[in-house]
Amino acid sequence: MIAAERLAGIRSRMAAASKVASRPPAATTLIAVSKTHPADAIEPLIAASQRHFGENRVQEAAAKWPALRAATPDLTLHLIGQLQSNKAAEAVALFDAIHTVDRLSLITALAKAMDSQAGKRPWMLLQVNIGNESQKGGCALADLPALLAEARNHSLDVRGLMAIPPADLDPAPFFALLAKLATDLGLPERSMGMSADFEAAIQLGSTMVRIGSALFGDRSPLKPSDALAV
Ligand SMILES: *Cc1c(COP(=O)(O)O)cnc(C)c1O
Repeated sequence: MIAAERLAGIRSRMAAASKVASRPPAATTLIAVSKTHPADAIEPLIAASQRHFGENRVQEAAAKWPALRAATPDLTLHLIGQLQSNKAAEAVALFDAIHTVDRLSLITALAKAMDSQAGKRPWMLLQVNIGNESQKGGCALADLPALLAEARNHSLDVRGLMAIPPADLDPAPFFALLAKLATDLGLPERSMGMSADFEAAIQLGSTMVRIGSALFGDRSPLKPSDALAV
């Protein structure tokens, strides 16, 4: 299937999930997660009027996106992967939105980077470690109100929360929890839902779904048959 057909399929599934939840389709933005995919895989989606894209690595985005953006100025580029403080300046220069703010040291690095780059002010989401998993990024639930206060003290434009539920559990209770946390904090945006679970996320109040493999195909260069041969 070609990329534009996959895109149309995702858009109609998003619309159907919105309808079930009595939410307007425009309440949820589709972020096409283009990590690992080259520019020539991205261009057909831009041609099909997709405008929001997500990348998880600063270096990879720096190599791919300046040329794509020059050709299509109204793109919105989201950083959805973990951000090291020493890459904060580069992230501020490159991205329109950063979904993975999860600690005070990163908040101070981002604030400093924005002070030194006039006109570059990406908006932010706080990432929550919603399943309390030791290997995952995101702040602990209990630390969220204090982290939001710190982000605001540093003049960050925080618009919502982001989370990745545990891989092996039903994501629905985690989506519901993230939506409740956002509501309680008065934050409008909830970045939740990926290829395998975006419909549930939309029904539970997602405002941004991050979809990679269902749009671009599998990221793994290894097919099962290759793996056997290794
Ligand atoms: C890769 C990635 C996605 C997209 O995952 P798919 O399952 O391919 O849709 C979404 N969010 C984050 C944070 C990612 O790293």
